[in-house]
Amino acid sequence: MTINRRKFLKHAVSGAGGLCLSAAASWALPQTPGQRNGSGKRVAILGAGLAGLAAGWELKQSGHDITILEAQLHPGGRVHTIREGLSDDLYAEAGAGRIPNTHNVTLEWVKHFGLELEPFFPKELAEVALLKGRRVKMPVGKPVDMSQVPLDLTPDERKIGVSNFDEHYYGDTMRRIGDAIREDWPPEITRLADISMAEFLRQRGASKDAIYYMLFGFEDDAALDFMRDAYSHHTESLSKIKGGNDQLPRAFAAKLSDVVDYGCAVEHIEHGKNGVRIACRRAGVLDHVEADAVICTIPFSVLRHIAVTPEWTPAKRKVINSLDYGPVVRATFQVSRCYWEDEGLNGFGSSDKDFEVWHPTYGKPGHRGLLQAYFYQDLARRLDKMSESERVERMIADMEEVHPGLRRCLETVVTKSWANDPWQRGAFVVYYPGQQKWYPEICSREGRVWFAGEHASPWPGWMQGAIASGMKAAREINAQSFDLR
Ligand SMILES: Cc1cc2nc3c(=O)[nH]c(=O)nc-3n(C[C@H](O)[C@H](O)[C@H](O)COP(=O)(O)OP(=O)(O)OC[C@H]3O[C@@H](n4cnc5c(N)ncnc54)[C@H](O)[C@@H]3O)c2cc1C
Repeated sequence: MTINRRKFLKHAVSGAGGLCLSAAASWALPQTPGQRNGSGKRVAILGAGLAGLAAGWELKQSGHDITILEAQLHPGGRVHTIREGLSDDLYAEAGAGRIPNTHNVTLEWVKHFGLELEPFFPKELAEVALLKGRRVKMPVGKPVDMSQVPLDLTPDERKIGVSNFDEHYYGDTMRRIGDAIREDWPPEITRLADISMAEFLRQRGASKDAIYYMLFGFEDDAALDFMRDAYSHHTESLSKIKGGNDQLPRAFAAKLSDVVDYGCAVEHIEHGKNGVRIACRRAGVLDHVEADAVICTIPFSVLRHIAVTPEWTPAKRKVINSLDYGPVVRATFQVSRCYWEDEGLNGFGSSDKDFEVWHPTYGKPGHRGLLQAYFYQDLARRLDKMSESERVERMIADMEEVHPGLRRCLETVVTKSWANDPWQRGAFVVYYPGQQKWYPEICSREGRVWFAGEHASPWPGWMQGAIASGMKAAREINAQSFDLR
């Protein structure tokens, strides 16, 4: 998920076309329990994020004896809605924010639990892009006034306009790639895994400043991964769940409350021919759980620090240790009034200093509002190293450049660093050139241990990947003929 998240709805891709649907179809997961092969098994699921919860839902329905071990005291992992510390029942997302209209698996579950969706982006007013120190207004759905854009572009690029760059330089390739990792991409697509996105754009003739504009901070991402992820952003619409996205994992968790062990941190995985033994710590006390099979959804960034006996195979150990997780810091600013509206702005925006701006309270009644900054890449890394007061000071200063006036209206700031979270250690998987070939190894099982989670799915960095991978692992266990009791 190394996308440039400021790419709004410029050239929507249709959910009905492209290669992505066939990939999604092979992962299409019915919401009826799978057929169990043999007697019920004892299955330990590590992590109660969407992957672990979806796996638990499936296995419980099929009559297995399951336990979900979750280090934190709430379900959902990276789907985390912030409510605490905000006034007037306001809320904002610390993690997963948007659901593309092409993500059928996620949308089916939203529907299954009777949750309501609302649009993520406004269809009116203007966003702001901070480019080389200048605030440029980007009216939604209208061309940008190129005379205001302080970039050194070719005459052709000036004619094309910045809002058409994505389509012009990589729209066709992005649609050939689709939104999901495939193992049967043709060679001319697979080779894009070995070059950076900046290199791809150079080969397409983009000028230095056009590349700068399209990639802010994501120049080194593998071209294939960048465009696969971009597909999900260039959809017809992006939605969010009314009341907060955490209602999705909470809806799963409500069906599983008797089998989730909260506050239970896995410390050691012992796996062998006859079963798996998990050592975990609850309220400071060491405990053990025995299982016939395990579904491990713990992000590799955390798993690499967890003891395992016997050691993972060398190929597995390599990917567990090497997979990169992008850093993200989200800051939620509560303001006494939505002052940017005075300028005809909708609150959304971006900055070439590695962040974008969201307005979670857009269209909501009430005076008070929230603005969010989504810091990534180098800026997120720098923020992660600062003290809280330094960090807040720097974030306010950066936001002032996009939406001047913040300081005057600011009531509180709530920050969340995904890299500093000990149960996540990063936001989502990022593939750099040469790493896509790790994918089969990331997903493959080791004896009785299955791997699920966004990282072990065709949709890394998306809720859809987490849900689909959990369901898939559960179905594979269901289909196993082993009867080990
Ligand atoms: C900043 C950000 C923005 C995002 N934006 C979007 C978006 O717009 N749309 C979208 O669809 N997706 C988005 N995502 C991705 C989405 O949130 C994830 O893909 C998905 O939630 C991952 O689910 P998971 O179950 O794989 O992992 P997680 O949610 O990470 O679940 C893993 C669980 O394991 C637990 N755990 C860790 N270590 C241990 C241990 N030792 N013992 C026991 N438990 C442990 C963790 O506490 C966690 O609950 C975003 C994510 C982030 C961080």
